[in-house]
Amino acid sequence: SPRTEKPSSEVKTVCPYCGAGCEIHLGVRGGRVVSARGVRESPVNRGNLCVKGRFGLKFVNSPERLKKPLMKVDGRFVEVEWDEAIKFIAERLSEYGGSEFAAVASAKCTNEENYLLQKFTRAVMGSGNIDHCARLCHAPSVAGLKMSLGSGAMTNSIDELRDAACILAVGTNATETHPITGYRVLEAVRGGSRLLVIDPRITRLSEAADIHLRNRPGTDLYLIMAMSRFIIEEELQDTDFIGSRTDGFDEFREELFKLDLDEVQEITGVPLEDIRRAARIYASNSPASIIYSMGVTQHVNGTGNVLALSNLALLTGNIGMPSAGINPLRGQNNVQGSCDMGALPDLLPGYQGLDDPEALEKFSRAWDSEIPDYGKILPEIFEDAAGGRIKAMYIMGENPLLSEPDIGKVREAFEKLELLIVQDIFLTETSELADVVLPAASFAEKDGTFTNTERRVQLIRKAIDPPGDAKPDWWIISRIAEAMGSGEFSYETSEEIFDEIRGLVPSYAGLSYDRLESGGIQWPCRSQEDEGTPYLHADEFPKPGGRASFIVPGYQLPEGPSDEYPMILLTGRNLYQYHTRSMTARVRGLERFLGTEELLMNPEDAESLGVLDGDEVRVTSVRGSITVGVRVTERVMKGTVFMTFHFAESPANSLTSPVRDPVSGMPGLKATPVNIKPCK
Ligand code: SF4
Repeated sequence: SPRTEKPSSEVKTVCPYCGAGCEIHLGVRGGRVVSARGVRESPVNRGNLCVKGRFGLKFVNSPERLKKPLMKVDGRFVEVEWDEAIKFIAERLSEYGGSEFAAVASAKCTNEENYLLQKFTRAVMGSGNIDHCARLCHAPSVAGLKMSLGSGAMTNSIDELRDAACILAVGTNATETHPITGYRVLEAVRGGSRLLVIDPRITRLSEAADIHLRNRPGTDLYLIMAMSRFIIEEELQDTDFIGSRTDGFDEFREELFKLDLDEVQEITGVPLEDIRRAARIYASNSPASIIYSMGVTQHVNGTGNVLALSNLALLTGNIGMPSAGINPLRGQNNVQGSCDMGALPDLLPGYQGLDDPEALEKFSRAWDSEIPDYGKILPEIFEDAAGGRIKAMYIMGENPLLSEPDIGKVREAFEKLELLIVQDIFLTETSELADVVLPAASFAEKDGTFTNTERRVQLIRKAIDPPGDAKPDWWIISRIAEAMGSGEFSYETSEEIFDEIRGLVPSYAGLSYDRLESGGIQWPCRSQEDEGTPYLHADEFPKPGGRASFIVPGYQLPEGPSDEYPMILLTGRNLYQYHTRSMTARVRGLERFLGTEELLMNPEDAESLGVLDGDEVRVTSVRGSITVGVRVTERVMKGTVFMTFHFAESPANSLTSPVRDPVSGMPGLKATPVNIKPCK
């Protein structure tokens, strides 16, 4: 049985699932992946792996892998050779340019591949329309933390959590979504750390917490601002830090004292005394570390939530030292890297600005091309496609037809396109609509680098050959660019691309494949002598004057329940599945744990609807309607229900709202008013 197969050799590489970036010894035999075990010396996972990293990698061997380029002829895919596919794509793409073209990069692909796709979009297609799924996870972190601290990344390292005196976990079900990080939090608690959790749901972290502030969905901003207010009322702020390293405190303080605390209690549903106790614990136990995920960002005021957390850390001086900081837990294996590589419509690689003349000059010289202006963010890309303004789209390793909000509208956009190119390892819901599908190599079949949530750049190494004619994404992009006449894509290895990146991105300048051979390094790493940066902002902030800023966030609540839609739907992920299941659906063992969608519902709501465990219900929002089975549990509060967005059969994102955070463009995925009717 494949389950007991012993590997004939092992290759050290990185887990391709979540942003923790655990290092693994990947066991192979006869050109197939047969095992995985954690790398004991890894500072990330110290030999541990979660169920997905340990047992979830055999999707690589699936017979359903794409093996040949496919072109649609008379509505059906036919297999073609690479030469024919590339010639067709090059000719068709030459008909479009500038704002008629958009590309969607991928947080599952390597740094080198994301760098190349944004270079191709900007330098060959002359379009700024490049974005990726970070828009749906941490765009508010990139925006908010850049405004307040000068850098949008996690300030500290996963391993430092063990020594935090206090951990404030906000909107994160880390033991399921970033399991190794979640376990590190539980380890810290066992060692005596205080744990505070802000979350509408009961999770494994909330059960381990000193205080669980169980607030109503989308009300975090009020709660966090009230914590800051209590810290000042009790004179627990770090006055020296505020005076020497920050600006804007007086305006922030003034705003805090405008808060109507009774209103805070009413809006959040959390007793003020609990908020005060949590504030006291956070401010009096240093170092205190904040971790957070989508429960903070996927709201119409996502950037405001991030700013509120950043203000809280600055107020108490919990920045610039080990085991403190503000730490957005990045979702996918390389979402940090794809942002670092400029797969964003408003930033060049290394977060260099499109408004910075020196950066423009540097990239223009390096790529022998004009640099186009700001492009469209992901939701705007789909709107422009639906409106006929974007006519050709290139999607690398993403499945927007399940992951985007309001997917009915996304389907309309795809159907309107004149040309859709998708490259992936499997046929996905999105690739079914493509004109051309290109077979890509998986993480086990190519070299490259991933950058994990704590800014650690790590090598992934080829362990086996790709199936059939599948090729690494960087190879595919390079050959298309060459076929379109560009002389700037003559790469034969991923290392050549990395060398180009480190010449253009100062925070990667000191990195090289040779150095990374002996272990990952955390950026910024500016020279060969630089050993990398486990925690940021030790001496100054990367902002003019070197000081961080208190920024007063704007208040905005998500759309609330109404008579017609009286319940609030929350969405998220589950330990045993991953995103749109293009990988985990091919792993039998994981499917056994959670093979179908379930809607979590509070017992009181279940009783008033007259439904029991396993009963089917119809969930309807203003945008769509789906059928799903119920699981009754106290883990969701009365008036709310929860489901994942993993399953195409009951796609949660046909219900969710595309209404966006005005700063970052993040849709408010976390709170959707719905009504629920039993199917019987
Ligand atoms: Fe992979 Fe994340 Fe699990 Fe680590 S915690 S094994 S990176 S899925």
